[in-house]
Formats: sequence, structure tokens, C-alpha cells
Amino acid sequence: MELYPKTVADIFGSLVFDDNSMRERLPKHIYSSLQKTRRLGLPLEPEVADVVANAMKDWALEKGATHYTHWFQPMTNVTAEKHDAFISQVEEGKVVMEFSGKELIKGEPDASSFPAGGMRSTFEARGYTAWDPTSFAFIKDNTLCIPTAFCSYGGQTLDKKTPLLRSMEAVNIQALRILRLFGNTTATRVNTTIGPEQEYFLIDRELYNKRKDLRFTGRTLFGASTPKNQETAAHYFGAIRPRVAKFMRDLDEELWKLGITAKTEHNETAPAQHELAPIFTNANVATDHNQLTMEYLRKVAERHGLTCLLHEKPFANINGSGKHNNWSLATDDGQNLLEPGDSPAENAQFLLFLCAIIKAVDDYSGLLRTSVATAGNDHRLGGHEAPPAIISVFLGDELTEVLQSIETGSACNAKKGDCLEIGVSSLPKLPKDTTDRNRTSPFAFTGNKFEFRMTGSSASIAGVNFVMNAIIAETLCQFADELEKASDFRQSLQQLIKETVIRHKRILFNGNNYSEEWREEAKGRGLPNYPSAVDALPHFVDQENIDVFVKHKIFTEEELRFRLDILLDIYSRTISVESLTMLDMARQEILPAALAFSKTISEGLQSKQSTGLALDLSYDNDLLINICRETGLLYSALERLEEAHHKAAAIQEPLLQAKAWRELVIPAMDEVRAPADRLETMVGKEYWPFPTYADLLFSV
Ligand code: ADP
Ligand code: MG
Repeated sequence: MELYPKTVADIFGSLVFDDNSMRERLPKHIYSSLQKTRRLGLPLEPEVADVVANAMKDWALEKGATHYTHWFQPMTNVTAEKHDAFISQVEEGKVVMEFSGKELIKGEPDASSFPAGGMRSTFEARGYTAWDPTSFAFIKDNTLCIPTAFCSYGGQTLDKKTPLLRSMEAVNIQALRILRLFGNTTATRVNTTIGPEQEYFLIDRELYNKRKDLRFTGRTLFGASTPKNQETAAHYFGAIRPRVAKFMRDLDEELWKLGITAKTEHNETAPAQHELAPIFTNANVATDHNQLTMEYLRKVAERHGLTCLLHEKPFANINGSGKHNNWSLATDDGQNLLEPGDSPAENAQFLLFLCAIIKAVDDYSGLLRTSVATAGNDHRLGGHEAPPAIISVFLGDELTEVLQSIETGSACNAKKGDCLEIGVSSLPKLPKDTTDRNRTSPFAFTGNKFEFRMTGSSASIAGVNFVMNAIIAETLCQFADELEKASDFRQSLQQLIKETVIRHKRILFNGNNYSEEWREEAKGRGLPNYPSAVDALPHFVDQENIDVFVKHKIFTEEELRFRLDILLDIYSRTISVESLTMLDMARQEILPAALAFSKTISEGLQSKQSTGLALDLSYDNDLLINICRETGLLYSALERLEEAHHKAAAIQEPLLQAKAWRELVIPAMDEVRAPADRLETMVGKEYWPFPTYADLLFSV
């Protein structure tokens, strides 16, 4: 049987109201007006909206859609939607299907059940959604989904898309200023381009259902290590097993229909871990597509009797999952601004953008750290698998040498005429080979883009990207301010690059980021180290961070403060649910299992006693004593955890509360886990109440 009755070309984008569908179905002037809106982010004329809405509806009905929804991205990591049928009235016994421009442009979902920080009490509970025409509408589950931004009635942002769009606009404005200085008069738009590599675990669904921790928290709260985990790394790029391969085929097809360019799929380092990477696209579409990818990973897994785990650390002592955020800048005339280029002028422009990024990461490394600060990611960052919590930039040897020679002025030893204005004769060929990459670096230059590796697997990539865009817009702005008023552009450029290298070279590090020495050295260099989300998050509202967001019109100060409260609240809730789940599992499942097994042992002992054997010498007596000891430890650790939970839950102030979860509750959870995991290794398999790590990790 053929796997694909249709070709990929038939399938690809078939559920997207994309450029082709628009050109086909819209009158010429409407189409070009919409194109302008899409390209330049202009507001949509009401008449245009009506025509577009109608064409969209007809297209959707032909594809079997019955409903429409404004699809948006609240402050959770998942998307939200409220479905309305197209049915508007019945005329002479026939239903009329309608969809107006007004309905396309604006929706009014009840905002009151989405996180809004303090905004709900200050403002109206109502929110509204507004169409983002830069992302195509698509059909999912017989519903026409319209990508929208979501804000409160007063206009405060309540979602992740709005700040992302604003940040893209900020980068666009500043990058164009720089391009003009280099004599580029053709580019009219600079976009951030993103290719997110998504890691995930796949486990058997039936086993998953037997574990409350996985169901309620997305990760295992208990579990002794398996005899075999990932020491041999045999799984990495290994042959994909048939059940997984079938899942991936099915997933690809679903994603392709939605116009998502799922391209690379392979096994990851840990057993049961995999990765999916799409072809990069602009930040806004990449974010929408990554949200859909996560949704379909879960949905398609279910169809195959599997469960997809997107949590950053589903299993202790096994590699966690991240989402490498590949980031670059591209002009609408097709130039990748992080592509070193061939001519000296291209090289100079490249070096300026490179320096802007280095400076941005150094000036705002704390802010960048907050963009990945979640309870789930705390298990990853700083473990010997993911980048550390300290941010540094990896450039590779070749580029580092170029910057060093600019710094010392030693580069221009060639004949004067050959020299680049900035003092380098030309850039060496930069390797794009993956083999010599530094995989321990949190922020690595990989030939023609940067790869930010700290993002958690379950997170929306909007957060890291509006931060990256904001800080890079700011440094580009500073550079443009200086260069625009320069009397001698070349000389000022050279000076600026040199100064930037001198001032910010402390953020550059090509060595092993996992090593203890680096931690020490980073401290000496004055680089911030926020080991946990609770340490990092408050820096979201440091004055210089507020300033950069406000200056580039991404957030108001008020929005930032509310957003911080939401992030702290999400952190606190996460630990709260985890600790309650732990109490429940330990009391309802683990203790009874240990007791049942002890009972069996002690009954055996009693019958031995009746035959006159010396019990104190027997192994089962020993085992019983050990189980009793661990059960006792577990029991008292549970009491302490419960007490810690009450204490933390009683605190009102968001930051103090988050601190209490971090400092009181998490250590208490560790104390519960230790004896429980030891018990798992002592209690008979058929007594143990839920599947073990070995069951879960080698089940598919
Ligand atoms: P690796 O695992 O070696 O890092 P992958 O092929 O798995 O490489 O992923 C690289 C990702 O980077 C892909 O999603 C790719 O589309 C993306 N990418 C490539 N060029 C750019 C660019 N200019 N801007 C943003 N992302 C890019
Ligand atoms: Mg990869």
C-alpha cells in the first residue's frame, strides 16, 4: 500500500488560507491592499476585511469547516480558542452561513479565566482579540482558526503574540537605520527569522495513565534510576523504531497540511527522546507554527497509543528537553544579515550586526535569563546536559581571532588598499559544519545564525524572541544614533566595533560551559548567575529592562509588572500542584505498597519462626528492617512536606510566595523522593503501584 496517496505538494498547506488561496479568491485590488497590510503591518480597511472574510469563509466551507475561532496565545504556554458556528440565520428553511469583516478583525472572548496579573481588578474583565494578518488563517478540527493578538479592553497586552509583533517592529526600525548607513536603499523590511528545534519524549499511553505525576504535572516525581539509562548514548540518531516512525509520518502529514515545514526528525540523546525541526521562517509565523506543532505532537501521539511529554525534565538523571531557538535577521530582499558575505563591505556590515548582538547579550544577559525562567526549566539549566544558568556567547575560533585582531589593531598588516575599513583584510571562511560546535554554550554562533539553547521544551518561543528582539533593537539603536551623526562613517564604524569588542569581550567564551572553572571565571568576569527561576524573574522589572521595553514600545511599565506577577504565580502553582501530587501518591500508593510487601515478608518470617530458624540472621529480616526504616523516613518527610506546603500557600506577596516554594517546599519534596526511590528498589515489582523508569523509557 502506498504511504502517501497524495504527493507532499498536494498536502502541503492544503488547510491554510495562504498567499495562493488569497490570490486565487480575492479581487486584485483587495489582494494587493491585504498584501500591503501584511508586509508593512498597516491597519486593514473595513471594506477590505469584509471581502477577505467572505472569501475565507467560502474557502473554509469548501474544506468542510463548520466553525470559526479567533486563535490566540494567552500567558499560558498553550493556545486558546472559542468556537462559533458560521450559521447566522435560517431563511426559508435554509441556513445562511456568514462571516463578516468585523468578525474577522475583532473578537471578544471572556478574558476572565486567563492569567492577567493585577490587570483584571484594575480594568475590565473583558478582553478582545484582533486579527494578525501577518500569520495565515488555517483549518483545525473543522474550524477556521484566525491567528489573533489578545489584549484587555483597555488595550493592555494579555498574550505573547502582541509583544512579539511589537518587538519585531522595533528590530525592523533599527536594523533598517543601520542598513541605510551602509548604503542599502532597497530593503523595506527586516524580519527576525526563527527555526526552533523541538525536543520531546514519547512513552506508552497506558503506562502514562497509570502515573498521577505524569498526568498532573507532566513529569515524574518519583522513580529510581534504571540499570540502563543513556551512558552509551546508543539512542542518539539511532534507527527510529517502527511505532515511532509511524507516529512521525502521521505527524508530518498533519503539520504539512497546516503549512508547517516539519523537516528534520531524529532520536535524541535520552532513551524515548526525539527532536523535530522545521525550516526557519519569520518569528511570528514560527511561533504560531511551534504552538501548533506542540499541539499536534500531543494529539497525534494519542492516536498511536502514545503520550508525548513536552516537559523540560520528565525523568530525573536523564537528559531533559529544550528548544534550540535559531535566530537571525533577514531583509525582504533576501539577505541574511548574519551571513558573513564575500565582499569587504558585507563583512563590515556583518561585523557590526555581530557586535550589536554581543553587546546586547552582555548588557542584558540577566533579562535574557529571565526569558527562560520557569519551574520546569530549573531542572535543566545547570545540569550537565543543558547550558548553565550563566549566559555567554560562543563564536568559534575563527571569529574570535578576527575580533581579537580588531581589538589589538594587528589585523591590517596587509597592503593598505586590501584592508577593510574596520581593520581586517577579509573574513576567513567560517565553518558551518556541526561537528566542531560547542554544544555546552547557551548562545552559539552557528555559521549564519545564533542558536539560543536555554529555551525550555514546553515554552512558547514568543518569550525568548521578544526579549532577544528588544535588546538587539536597543543596541542597534545606540549604534545607529552614533553612526548617523558621525562625520567620517568608516572611521566611526571602525572605532565603534573596536570599542564594543573591548567593552564586551567578557561575554565571549569558547570553552566548556559545564566546568566548575567556568563558573568561577564567570564570577570573576562579573557575569550574572541566577541558578533558579525565582532568582532570575525579579530582574524582569530592573530599571534598565523596563527602560528598553518601554523605549521600543513593547510593554508599558505596568504591563511588565503584571506580567512578572503572572510568571511568579505560574511558578508557585506549578510547585504547589507537584507537592500535592507527591503527597497523594506517597500516601495513597507508595506507603500502602510498602506495607503490603512488608506484610508478606513478615508473614514469611513468622512461618520460618515456627520452624525454629534464627530470624536475626536471615536476609528477609534484614530487608524488612530496611523497608521499615525507609517507610518511616518517608512518612515523616511527608509530614514535613505538608507543613511546608501550608506555609508557602499562606503567603500573599507573589515574590515571597515563590521564594517559599523554592526554599521550603522543593527541599521538602527532595526529602520525600529519596526514601520513596529507595523503597522502589526494595519492594517487589508486582507490589509497586505504578510503572517504573525502565517500563516508561523502554516501552515504545
Ligand atoms: P542542528 O541540530 O545542527 O542545530 P537542525 O537542522 O536540527 O540543526 O536545526 C537548525 C535549525 O535552524 C532549523 O530549524 C533551521 O531551519 C534553522 N535555521 C537555519 N538558518 C536559519 C536562519 N537564517 N534563521 C533562523 N533559523 C535558521
Ligand atoms: Mg538539532
